[in-house]
Amino acid sequence: MKLTLRMVLRLIFGDEYMRLLLHTSSDNPGVNGLPHSSVDILNSEGNLATRRWYDADGRAVRDVDMTNHGNPKIHSEWPHEHFWDWSSGIPVRS
Ligand SMILES: [Zn+2]
Repeated sequence: MKLTLRMVLRLIFGDEYMRLLLHTSSDNPGVNGLPHSSVDILNSEGNLATRRWYDADGRAVRDVDMTNHGNPKIHSEWPHEHFWDWSSGIPVRS
């Protein structure tokens, strides 16, 4: 088996690091990330579902959803934005 650079990095740093490094994820990356970073969240088919941005403290601040969640009545436009409100201490997505 031939080792690729990506495989070596994964062996050294583990899946979690690779996920942050590559800024893509097929799992929900959660509300905390690297400061001033963004992550592309992929759906089960590997297509871009959501792009999420993190602020200086690594807190999610903005999502852009690329789909209407299968619900065009509620989401008549896509892509569309959601914002994260941290004022209560518990992150709430608009
Ligand atoms: Zn949405």
